[in-house]
Parts: sequence; structure tokens; C-alpha cells
Amino acid sequence: MNIQSNIPLVHLSSFHTQGMANELSIITTEQQIIDLLHKGKFQDRYYILWKGNNTLFNGNFQGLLIKNEIMGKEIISQDKEDILLKIGGWEDWVTFVKYCVENKYAGIENLSEIPWTVGASPIQNIGAYGTEVGEYIQKVEGINLTNWKKEIFSNEECQFWYRNSIFKTTLKNKFFITAVYFKLKKETTHYQVNIAYADIQNYIENHKIDKTTLSIKQVSEIITTIRQKKLPNLEERGTAGSFFKNPIITKEQYQKLLQNFPMLKSYPITDNTKVKVPSAQLIELVGMKGVLDDGVGTYKNHALILVSKGVQQGEKIVRFAEKIKTKVYETFAISLEAEVNIIGA
Ligand code: NAP
Repeated sequence: MNIQSNIPLVHLSSFHTQGMANELSIITTEQQIIDLLHKGKFQDRYYILWKGNNTLFNGNFQGLLIKNEIMGKEIISQDKEDILLKIGGWEDWVTFVKYCVENKYAGIENLSEIPWTVGASPIQNIGAYGTEVGEYIQKVEGINLTNWKKEIFSNEECQFWYRNSIFKTTLKNKFFITAVYFKLKKETTHYQVNIAYADIQNYIENHKIDKTTLSIKQVSEIITTIRQKKLPNLEERGTAGSFFKNPIITKEQYQKLLQNFPMLKSYPITDNTKVKVPSAQLIELVGMKGVLDDGVGTYKNHALILVSKGVQQGEKIVRFAEKIKTKVYETFAISLEAEVNIIGA
């Protein structure tokens, strides 16, 4: 059995926090995960870690970290209009989107440059610029860690909703995703790209680009440029992208807030008694954008992104996040909820 002991956490998450994990195991086949866990030695003292780009270790990790490194890319079927692809869990998300864009497989181009893995994409139902990955997932395959059976979840069974799925709730840490099936469209001249978000619209206007003939390649390039300007470089500082989810509040509460904060934005959601409010703006309005406090802060170009300098203690980042939550709650009576998985103490 491939188990390593006393593992520094610093390179296992994009926050590069201090601390140690008791053990680490790297899995490259379905059988390995069954052999590793089925005897129950680790009970629930294990955590399935992907790239670590959405994880904050708060101190040491007293247990076994499991990295899923199952690869693979296969075309299952295709016709003139659609293509069905089976992609291994550990395949790199950015590379996969590039492959789709180059081959004119349309649908996920708005999810360009998200530093993720394919297997973790359904867990969080990653989304950006009005597209969610769940719209293009046909099914998810993996090992159920409660009965050791290989199981397949249809799109409906995945229970996708805003930045969430069954794999982040009922099956959190209990389902080992080995492959994801994507149903994508072949790009034709009729394909409608999704360019509704203001950042994309502004870019198109500023660069005098013809909206009517935009290809998925152009959309992907535009989003890549916007993201590179707005988001910190993972190589340069610790971060896990957006730290909090966007809160959903009642329209009534929003109307009341507008009396004191007329600039507060909102976006409609399917439940028309409620609206989505951007966390980044709430954080900016409480004066916490671009603040740096003892090596931990918010990014100067984006208030929702917590950043850290050098190797920090996870608890310092947690404390800073709590400070933001308190200020936002005191000002707006809105509770921010972390999108990042906080693991440990
Ligand atoms: P943005 O474009 O500045 O917008 C701020 C927030 O308002 C976003 O979170 C977005 O919600 C919402 N919004 C803006 N325009 C909207 C519209 N036309 N309809 C509905 N909602 C709208 O956002 P950003 O922070 O620069 O990020 C751009 C996109 O990348 C967003 O979709 C964001 O969620 C995504 N992103 C995700 C992560 C992550 O770590 N998960 C990190 C960075 C960016 P939504 O979040 O629902 O889109």
C-alpha cells in the first residue's frame, strides 16, 4: 500500500499554509482506493484532496490525505451535433477546456482558466460568467466509500445547484470520483456564446470586437485575459480564489438595504422572492478591499479573494475571514458562508 508519513502541508494547498499531515496516499486506480479504505483502518480520519486550490488547512491534519490521480480521456460517442467525453478525475481542468475549445466542442468555454481538476468540478459545480459545469455533465462515475461499489450518478442525481452538489453535502468525502462524462455541442455558426456578464461586454466594447461572429475560442481568450488581470497569480501568493459564496437574501431585505446602500448590486435567481448579492461588493463596502493585515488580506483587484504572503498559519487566515464576516454581518445583517473548504482544528 502506497502510504507516506509526516507530510508537510505547504505544497498541498494553494494557500501554502504551515503544518503537517499524518499520512498521504496517492491513488491511480479504482482498486487502490478500495484496498486503502475498505478495512476501515482510517474510519473517517481521511480527507480526499484534489489540487488543494479550494482548501484551507487550519493547523495540522490528523489523518490520511488521499489524492486522486486517476487520468484518462476518451470519446464515448459523437454525431454531427453533440459529443460525449469521459474524462479521468485527475485531468487538469484548464487543459481540458483548452482541448475542447481547440476541437470546437462548445459549452464550457466560459469556465476557462479555473485552476481545478476535472474530478472536483462537479463537487463544487464550478461556475463562472453565467455557466455552471453541471449544465454539461451527463453523469459522474466513482466508488462509493460506504459500500465499496462502483456507482454512477446521473445529472439529476448529482443535485447540482449554486456552487454545490450531492458530493459536497450528503456524499461529502464519501464518494471517490473517478471519471466525469461531459455532453458538449459541436460548435456551428448557430451556436450562441454566453457573453452576458458585464466584464465580457465591456471588453468587447473596449476592443471593438464584432459580437455577432464571436467563436468559443475568442470567448475563451477574452475570459482568460479578464481573469489574468483580475485574479492573483497562484505562483506568487497564497490564495484559494473566491473565499465566500454570494449570499442569497429576500427582496424585502434587499429593498431595506438599498435605503442606506443605494449602490448595492443584486442579480435575479430562479426563486423570484430572493436575489443574489455580490460578496465582493459587501466586503468592499465595509472597507476591506485590498487590506493586508500581518501577511493576510484581500486582493487589491478583487475583494472576495483572500491572499496570504509566504507560508502562513492557517488559523491566521481563518481569523481574518472571521473578521470580514463580522464586519459584513454588523453592517448588512448578512452572514457570509465560506466557499473554501476549511479543514482541521
Ligand atoms: P463579477 O463579474 O465581478 O460579478 C460579481 C458577482 O456578481 C459574481 O459573483 C456573479 O455571480 C454576479 N454577477 C455578475 N454579473 C451577473 C449577471 N449578469 N447575472 C448573474 N450574476 C451576475 O465576478 P468575478 O468575481 O469577477 O468573477 C467572474 C466569474 O467567475 C463569476 O461568475 C464568479 O462566480 C466566477 N469565479 C469563481 C471563482 C471561484 O473560486 N469559485 C473565483 C473567481 C471567479 P456568480 O458568481 O453567480 O457568477
